[in-house]
Amino acid sequence: MIKIGCHLSTSKGYEAMGKNALMIGANTFQFFTRNPRGSKAKNIQPQDIEKLLIIMEEKNFAKLLAHAPYTLNPCSDKAETREFAKIVMEDDLRRMEYLPGNYYNFHPGSHVGQGVEIGITYIIDLLNDIIREDQTTTILLETMSGKGSEIGGTFEELKQILNGVKSSDKMGICLDTCHIYDAGYDIVNNLDMVLEEFDRIIGLEMLCAIHLNDSKNPFSSHKDRHEKIGEGSLGLSTFEHIINHPKLRNLPMFLETPNELDGYAKEIAMLKGLFMD
Ligand code: FE
Ligand code: FE
Ligand code: ZN
Repeated sequence: MIKIGCHLSTSKGYEAMGKNALMIGANTFQFFTRNPRGSKAKNIQPQDIEKLLIIMEEKNFAKLLAHAPYTLNPCSDKAETREFAKIVMEDDLRRMEYLPGNYYNFHPGSHVGQGVEIGITYIIDLLNDIIREDQTTTILLETMSGKGSEIGGTFEELKQILNGVKSSDKMGICLDTCHIYDAGYDIVNNLDMVLEEFDRIIGLEMLCAIHLNDSKNPFSSHKDRHEKIGEGSLGLSTFEHIINHPKLRNLPMFLETPNELDGYAKEIAMLKGLFMD
């Protein structure tokens, strides 16, 4: 069975996300750990989380994907900004232990002119500071489009980060289809070649999750604007290949397309229809 979900709002709590996921035909979901633009996280309500865990158990959910606020910059040139990212991510990881054994995804950040090497060093230092030996969460680096001075637009940069992290068993990769196409990996015409390259440079065993997004922009545009599935430059047949690919078909997949719940329900039904059981 396909493991599929979408990004859901955290505003009504964890049980509500589980119920919304069921309502739209999903068996997993992604959520922000806190307000994506701010830093404020609501207090954890253990009874609420407990109810979600029951839904997940009963309905056989795949692993969930928590997403760090996208405004964090773990490789900023400003020490306060890096420190802020560290405090937020450390707190998120602590909170994730209420939902043991799931994924926590973050954007490597932008080096803002200092250069890739310095930026990568900051990201590695931050990860080595916050990873705890007893954590059950796997931290995922997201593949980025390479917009501006963004780090993570190439497999080599992601591998360099992974190489520097001491507890590499706590790390993985989340592949965003819009981002890698915008970054210049041609998954429309050469999906197999891109996956071979991923395997050669990073190793497919590190690939834990997929963000399923079409792109509003052409190949290698370095833009990062998501489009509805089948309505952008990737096109529906690319998604049919991706979700059925032997190396990808067992991974949890998350839609981050411009949709409300009803739109997500339609995309999930469409992708389930294309999935070959
Ligand atoms: Fe993201
Ligand atoms: Fe994404
Ligand atoms: Zn994006």
